[in-house]
Amino acid sequence: MGEYKAYCLDLDGTMYRGKEPIVEAVNFVTDCQAEGAETYFITNNAALTRAAQQKKLAEFGVLTDIDHIMNSAIALARYCKQYYAGASVMMIGEEGLEEALEAEQITLTTKNPDVVMMGLDRQITYSKLAEACLAIRNGARFLGTNQDVKFPTEKGLVPGNGSFLHLMEVASGEKPIVVGKPEPHMLQFIQQQGAYEKEEMVMIGDNYDTDILAGIRYGIDTAYVATGVTPLDEVLIKELLPTYVLSSLGDWPKK
Ligand SMILES: [Mg+2]
Repeated sequence: MGEYKAYCLDLDGTMYRGKEPIVEAVNFVTDCQAEGAETYFITNNAALTRAAQQKKLAEFGVLTDIDHIMNSAIALARYCKQYYAGASVMMIGEEGLEEALEAEQITLTTKNPDVVMMGLDRQITYSKLAEACLAIRNGARFLGTNQDVKFPTEKGLVPGNGSFLHLMEVASGEKPIVVGKPEPHMLQFIQQQGAYEKEEMVMIGDNYDTDILAGIRYGIDTAYVATGVTPLDEVLIKELLPTYVLSSLGDWPKK
């Protein structure tokens, strides 16, 4: 197996399952760091702040710099700054998205925005949806953090941001631009941050349709781990296979 400078790891289903760490993955990250490689954590979850995510990882024994955590909120804020510089933003979302927008000094507004942004908001109301819909119909650009239509909780699967994006798309007649995996924006920001060559990066994850496709689309090596959502037999019949197929990160050979 190849050696890499930047190991980009998905979180849920790859590093942990809900509140349980995946021991092989924790050990793998510790080994990579001991060898001087960089580890990055990439999640579509836009609700948690980086500090909250860093704390959760630390509880599982995974230590990381805060700037090695990439989520779809940070990617969306950077995307907005890059492509819609100076735009005012109407936001539907939680603390993670709000903090990411503040970090990029993006102006928030509730009236006549240039851009409407939607991330998961567990306090969403009809009036928020109606205001956002009207703004998009009046010409505001429509951006979203991630298209995951559902996500797992202790009680089972619940609506994710993608479900709300669908609702808004139907109501407004506009398709959102989305930055979360399988779009490659988060990988691109990591590549820029570390000035890596694509051959020096690998994307590791449990979800073929988000993690592995993001890596394939970006043109870097990929490693699928059978510790989360996509079953192994589904991966093996895909037309575009991951570079590596592993039952867990414990199977990654020691150097
Ligand atoms: Mg996952």
